[in-house]
Amino acid sequence: MTSFQDFGLAPPIARALTEKGYSTPTPIQTQAIPYVMAGRDLLGIAQTGTGKTAAFALPILHRLAQDRRPAPKRGCRALILSPTRELATQIAESFKAYGKHMGFSVAVVFGGVKYGAQIKALTAGVDILVATPGRLIDHLQEKVANLGQVEVFVLDEADQMLDLGFLQPIRKIVAGLPKQRQNLFFSATMPGEIGKLAGELLHDPAKVSVTPAATTVERIDQRVLFVEADRKRQLLAELFADGHMKRTLVFTRTKRGADRVAKYLEQAGVGAASIHGDKTQGQRERALAAFKAGQVAALVATDIAARGIDIDAVTHVVNYELPNVPDAYVHRIGRTARKGNDGIAISLVADDERNLLRDIQKTTRQTIPSFDRRNDRALGQVAAMDRKLEPARKPEPAREEQRELPPGLRKRRRRRGGGQGPQAQGGQRPQGQGGQRNGGQAGGAKRRGGKRGPSGAGGALRADSGGWTPLD
Ligand code: AMP
Repeated sequence: MTSFQDFGLAPPIARALTEKGYSTPTPIQTQAIPYVMAGRDLLGIAQTGTGKTAAFALPILHRLAQDRRPAPKRGCRALILSPTRELATQIAESFKAYGKHMGFSVAVVFGGVKYGAQIKALTAGVDILVATPGRLIDHLQEKVANLGQVEVFVLDEADQMLDLGFLQPIRKIVAGLPKQRQNLFFSATMPGEIGKLAGELLHDPAKVSVTPAATTVERIDQRVLFVEADRKRQLLAELFADGHMKRTLVFTRTKRGADRVAKYLEQAGVGAASIHGDKTQGQRERALAAFKAGQVAALVATDIAARGIDIDAVTHVVNYELPNVPDAYVHRIGRTARKGNDGIAISLVADDERNLLRDIQKTTRQTIPSFDRRNDRALGQVAAMDRKLEPARKPEPAREEQRELPPGLRKRRRRRGGGQGPQAQGGQRPQGQGGQRNGGQAGGAKRRGGKRGPSGAGGALRADSGGWTPLD
């Protein structure tokens, strides 16, 4: 299968694809679309970035067009469940783009925003509904939504759903679906639990799989920089100093860490914004838009906030801290090197993270080239200067409390500590505006650290680099 024409998709879909400039289906599309068009259930192993959204959206649009009928009141014909609101929004946008000549209605339902518009859309009924589980359950409980007319059900990023504690909500939602339906199930990984869920949901599924994690990883130029934990931010600012890191995703482990790093970068003259579960929907959207438009060079994110975000042309990924699980490393660095582009991933590794690095190298079956920036005099000078300029910081809460916890766990903790309403929408409901305000505009305070080390770290990541000592 070399072209979209070969699938026999409805002409308005083919037209939209041509307008979007898609000429060749991606491997997941080539494999999945014929099965889905034939009405089969599907189990797809594919990450974001492989074109999996179109792999289910195109045949769904085709199916709905083959059998046109009014959208059911308070319901929908196709239901897509997504773990995060960002991904839900992207999926809905894809449906709108591919179906732009077809006149189908598309609605998105997620937490953290008012109910009114969602209730209005649901009451009238929609052809395609993209939802995160928590808010959809709210609507089901309020009898605003009814899923009895769903013809196609898609569970996207199933592994993330489980990580986020959505297993029970998914089961609840599935219980409201009609028995007779088509099921499409996508996951980047297939741990045992996901296999079990797939077994419950799917009937005689066709199985397709693309891009095993290691293949993506191989296309990315990876580096490890060993550095003292308390000099990481100085090293990060230095990495940005030579101007190559034009669109860089920086991952931190904690929400407060994300705010702090973004603030430091701004103070060092690097345009930065942060995105995490404590930000409001508006703040997240503004940060993403500024990053996409190139207004800020750095988007500092926690893992959960960055899941599924599809931003083209991310030049670099920086792991400010290594993630606790190797799979998350693969996910993170997969944000760069999209659509066949090359990408660079840099991990700042403190001594107490070496065991995490070992696990990552074992899982991805590679040795990541490493450079030692410990005891670096230039960095030490900048750090010393920063310390002098910095007002005394308040002591931080215990590390565990700052983590971006999966919503299930967060909810449990909140309840223990006094409780929250039962409708809490997992990671998708802002928990207050405690974080740093971050306008996301470039050019904040002037660079403080002035002098940078002679061995520019950014330089060492290019072919003509020199000056660093690779470790064995
Ligand atoms: P996804 O994995 O669905 O998030 O898609 C990743 C990106 O690839 C999105 O920006 C899509 O718009 C784009 N895309 C999907 N299919 C194709 C295709 N056949 N040709 C070119 N771009 C595509």
